[in-house]
Amino acid sequence: MPADSTSPPLLRLGGVDKSFGAHQVLHGIDLELRAGEVVVLLGASGSGKSTLIRCVNRLETIDAGEILLDGVPMPLEGRELARMRAQVGMVFQSFNLFGHKTVLENITLAPVRVRGVPARQAQERAHELLARVGLADKASAYPAQLSGGQQQRVAIARALAMEPRVLLFDEPTSALDPEMTNEVLDVMSELAREGMTMLVVTHEMGFARRVADRVVFLDAGRIVESAPPRDFFAGPRTDRAREFLSKIL
Ligand code: ADP
Ligand code: MG
Repeated sequence: MPADSTSPPLLRLGGVDKSFGAHQVLHGIDLELRAGEVVVLLGASGSGKSTLIRCVNRLETIDAGEILLDGVPMPLEGRELARMRAQVGMVFQSFNLFGHKTVLENITLAPVRVRGVPARQAQERAHELLARVGLADKASAYPAQLSGGQQQRVAIARALAMEPRVLLFDEPTSALDPEMTNEVLDVMSELAREGMTMLVVTHEMGFARRVADRVVFLDAGRIVESAPPRDFFAGPRTDRAREFLSKIL
């Protein structure tokens, strides 16, 4: 839950447009997340969810609008961008762990290289984070020796190791079977409970209902609904959201 509904947004997108060639994928996206808020982003395949998430980190350039982290515009490039990007953690569907590195190395690499954390300290922190995601005994394993759910929990620990202000998730459980999905969702729910600010693309409606403070529905690159989950699921206002829910529920 947001600690203080009057505080300025931790993350703000204002009037964001994004095109690929002649195809405009995002249209005037306005979105604010307050510190501690969990927003679940829903929408049909191709509606622009991944593009929106990627724009936040400037993994995609934007054509218009602004993206501010704690009131500071995300820099366009260079060291300043790297510094601010480090405050925005990302977890992808495909885990993206380094296969030739151990779990511990995967988690310590960025803090040591990017943030200059001493190796010993980064390792201690990594062990703490592994315990937190239920993988205390996997520090010296390689990703291929882990299940998908375990790999995704390592990816979450890796993101947390950078001490991000906000975490972005793009369909973190879509590649997992139901049992593994639940172990990942449990870790995410716990993070939310501890006050992490999160923007989550997921098709897990149970998670959205239980954990989200707000559900945002994207249709063809436009935000057409933004409501607390209880209201959204009880009565979506747009035909497109109704249609989406009738297919997924
Ligand atoms: P979602 O995540 O909601 O499924 P995406 O953001 O992946 O949607 O894609 C939105 C639209 O943008 C789709 O029509 C997709 O084909 C297009 N798109 C995404 N990335 C690129 C790209 N790198 N180049 C061209 N088109 C893209
Ligand atoms: Mg996507």
